[in-house]
Amino acid sequence: MDQGIVYVVGAGPAGLFAARKIATAGYQVLILNRDIKPGGLAEYGIYPQKFHMKNGLRKQFAKILAMPNVDYIGNARVRSDERLTVEGLKDWAPAAIVYAVGAQGTKNLGLPGEDAKGVYSAKDFVYHYNLLPPFASQDFSTGRRVAIIGMGNVMADIARWLLIDQPGEKPDEVTVIARRGPFEVKFDRKEFDEIEAFLNRKELQDELNRVAEACKGAGQDVGQVADTTFPWLKTQPENTPASKLKFRFLSSPIAIEPGADRRIAHLRVVENILVRDGENTRPKATDTETLLDIDTLIFAIGDLADRGLGLPYGKNSYATNPDTANPDRAAYEVFDPASGKVVDGVFVVGWARKASEGLVGKARFDAEQGVNHILKYLEGAAKKSSASAADVLSQIRSKGIETVTKDDIITLGQVEAQQAQAHGLPEFKFSTNQEMLRAIQTKVAG
Ligand SMILES: Cc1cc2nc3c(=O)[nH]c(=O)nc-3n(C[C@H](O)[C@H](O)[C@H](O)COP(=O)(O)OP(=O)(O)OC[C@H]3O[C@@H](n4cnc5c(N)ncnc54)[C@H](O)[C@@H]3O)c2cc1C
Repeated sequence: MDQGIVYVVGAGPAGLFAARKIATAGYQVLILNRDIKPGGLAEYGIYPQKFHMKNGLRKQFAKILAMPNVDYIGNARVRSDERLTVEGLKDWAPAAIVYAVGAQGTKNLGLPGEDAKGVYSAKDFVYHYNLLPPFASQDFSTGRRVAIIGMGNVMADIARWLLIDQPGEKPDEVTVIARRGPFEVKFDRKEFDEIEAFLNRKELQDELNRVAEACKGAGQDVGQVADTTFPWLKTQPENTPASKLKFRFLSSPIAIEPGADRRIAHLRVVENILVRDGENTRPKATDTETLLDIDTLIFAIGDLADRGLGLPYGKNSYATNPDTANPDRAAYEVFDPASGKVVDGVFVVGWARKASEGLVGKARFDAEQGVNHILKYLEGAAKKSSASAADVLSQIRSKGIETVTKDDIITLGQVEAQQAQAHGLPEFKFSTNQEMLRAIQTKVAG
């Protein structure tokens, strides 16, 4: 189909499944990705030990990249402060541009002392242990008393890493801190099963007793917790592990207090009571403050779209068309509030559209829904003389950016598989871009 080339920015699940659907409809697709490797959070977010799931996704992604009408340029970040920009891409006259860059912005806690050492966003911490450059080489040292803010699956993953898989010494305790109570946990049972052996039943019961009165305001009876959200309360683990997993409910962080070494020493929280708010519950602060002894704080409260990308930004996400006449389509169309117009041919899908929302299946569904509208747009759009993948590649390289192609990704996979075999490991990953680029060059030259 000689209609021009569709550029997809981002090769996480949303970008790759969008690319597949657009390519299957007959269009030529060029994917530009920040990371050398494709996969996004499927490669660098999903828990490292979920080999089966990760390998299954890698195989699907490899098939997408193998499509003859799909090209890939990795190590090519598009951002307002980079050599490749949102405006610059338009100069190459793509038939459409689909932004599938995920949620790369950090939702900060906004607390005094937040810049203390030992305070990390969950995204960065997860990138670190999943070996995404440059996070893989940065200091994410943890101490003996780690607090995780948030009660979702990301919390469960991070606790699992700290308590089980992190190399070296394990913490004495991991405390999960939440504004709301034991009935408002967001993690899935099977994710918590991985760490339930560390759950200190006695201390959880003490904590439930502590918040029992405060939960009553929302009509909750903590006596029901074992039958609902914490079935593990009815069982005892076979062994008593050295590290403890604890919960601190109805507590909102209000300040981070560093010690003399500038590392977090205390977390000040205000205690809440729970009130009903229609169908939901809402925490309401009291006058009581507590100082918790903490030497590492990881906040797992979801992420935001990256403001620095260069797309028009709304309240907490990229601005999309507010048109209420056709909301399904409008939700994927990038909108410029300054001109009051849709940005012609520019779309957003996946976590870039709705940050931190859902699993891979949801990101895929969102991308494929978006593509239905993109294909309709393409049918009616004027033909474009888009810069080809080869032109784009040479122009990016002329800017001094060391990019990789889909053939390079196959080569890198082969080198990493050889390394895994040589070291008797289930998998091997290079943790810097330099190592990946060198491995590709060496293999190609050899
Ligand atoms: C810790 C964690 C654990 C998870 N575990 C699971 C799980 O077990 N099972 C499951 O199904 N789901 C899991 N998920 C959810 C799943 O990872 C997401 O649903 C999915 O990855 C979102 O896909 P996406 O493509 O929208 O974004 P992402 O996966 O974030 O992909 C974004 C892509 O865009 C690229 N990019 C970013 N910025 C730029 C830029 N400026 N220029 C060019 N490219 C850019 C990135 O390199 C990346 O390739 C987990 C998520 C997290 C955070």
